[in-house]
Formats: sequence, C-alpha cells, structure tokens
Amino acid sequence: MNYIIFDLEWNQCGSDSEILTDPVCLPGEIIEIGAVKLDDSFQKVDELRLYIKPQYYQKLHRRIVTLTGIRDQILAEQGLSFPEAYEKFQDFCGEEYSFMTWSTSDLPILVDNMLLHGIDVSNLPDTYDLQRIFCREIMRFSRRMSLDDALKVLNEKGDTAHDALNDSRNTALVCNHLDLEEYGGEYVSRAFAELPRKEVFESPKAALADPGLRTYSCPWCGEAVTGDPWLRVEHDEFLSMGRCSEGDEILLTLELTPTAANRYHPRRIFYEMSDDLWEEYNERKEHQ
Ligand SMILES: [Zn+2]
Repeated sequence: MNYIIFDLEWNQCGSDSEILTDPVCLPGEIIEIGAVKLDDSFQKVDELRLYIKPQYYQKLHRRIVTLTGIRDQILAEQGLSFPEAYEKFQDFCGEEYSFMTWSTSDLPILVDNMLLHGIDVSNLPDTYDLQRIFCREIMRFSRRMSLDDALKVLNEKGDTAHDALNDSRNTALVCNHLDLEEYGGEYVSRAFAELPRKEVFESPKAALADPGLRTYSCPWCGEAVTGDPWLRVEHDEFLSMGRCSEGDEILLTLELTPTAANRYHPRRIFYEMSDDLWEEYNERKEHQ
C-alpha cells in the first residue's frame, strides 16, 4: 500500500458568470499536481510534479500567478493535457494506494477535473485529511490550522508555500510527527463521487429544502437513502449523513457554487463514515 500525499494548484476564471457549467460546474481548472509517495511504513519513496495546460480557463488569473508563481509560459512549455497528466499521476500512485491531503478542498477539484475529461470517478481510494488529524491529535482542537502554522508549531522549516510539490513535501513533514499506525484507522474514509448533477437552484435555501439533494444510492447495497437535513459548515459548504437499512453510513458533503445571483450549482462528495467523521458531524450538529 502506498500513501499518496497530493496537492493541486488550479486556475479560475475572472468572474462567477464565466464559470463553465457544462459538462460539469468547474470552479477551478487544475494547472499543477504535486505529490509525495510514502511506503506502507510512511517513509517517503518518491515525488512528482506535473504541469497541466488549462483547456477552458486558458489565461492565468492574476491572483493565481501571484499566489503560485506559475506563469503562462511554464504551462505552454511544460504543460500536459489533463488526461495525460492524470495517467502519469495514476502510474505514480501504483496499484494500491490511499490519498492524503491537507484539508479536504483538493479532492472535489480533482473530481471535477476528472469528470470534465470523462475520466471514471467510480473507484476513488481511501482518504486521510492530515490537517484534521494534526489538529485533533497534536493541537487537541477542532479548529482548522494552516499548513504554514502547523510547520511553525512543529519547528519544521518547510519549502515555499503555494507550490503543489512544496505543499506536498511540507505535508509529508507534518506526517512524520503523526503516529498513523496508532490512530490512522479512526480517520480513514473511502471517498465516493457521482456524475455531475444537472439541476440548478435559485438560492441556497431552495437547494437545502430539496430532499432530492440529500438523496444518494448507498455505495455498498445500492439502496436509495435520504440523508438528514443539511448542517452548514461554511457559507457555501454543508454536511449531512445517511444510513441505509443494512446500516451502511455515509457522510455527504455539499458545495453550492454560484454562477449568477440566482444560479447555484450543487457539487457533492460522499465519505464512508469513520469514527472521526461521526464525531465531527455530531459536534457540528450540537453547535448549529
Ligand atoms: Zn447500504
């Protein structure tokens, strides 16, 4: 089993109204994949950096150039198409692997980009959110902390941030301080994606009121399950949970992406319920 720490940089378009909505709602088009491979005893064995030439948001947004230092010229010279890059990334991951990321924001973007290019999303691996694990096990709190701040706490000198490979290396430095053999099992959760949803809602309120948006088919038995009412996590991010009659439990995540004042596009990712997700969900429920 390999553990793949990965980080993405993505380009965005100038305004909400320019966001691509067909074949998939695309808030970000990936321009760089950085990854570090750990072996089954969490030792670093390899690393990878891939640049990707954007196909839809071709001109790099000024903010992205400033943040990442990536320029149009680098992408023109070294950029692969997303399908080419994804194939290289898959080869790097190997046969059996789990994903590790700092926060949960990269996986939905990866899924959007896979869907954009017609790549199968039905077989996502187990995932670990190292930010959550660090905050719970080292800091002993439920808040989120930036990767930079985590490195400071650990007295680690990381590489410059907002570079996909550097951020992966920095995440690997944090990983060295975690005893994943001991408590990793509480946090591991398989991720599931779905094909793009076509419906558009006129407001977040309308989206949250629609039970169809909480309905999913259980990844193990196929039963149609309607999850509990959504809990708000951030202004446009929501959580729900569902349990089929066999007892299989899923945590549902929802993001609502506005592309106009009255157009909200839902994007969902599901996670197998872990001990930690259960705890997080119930904490959020108590504090709503
Ligand atoms: Zn089931």
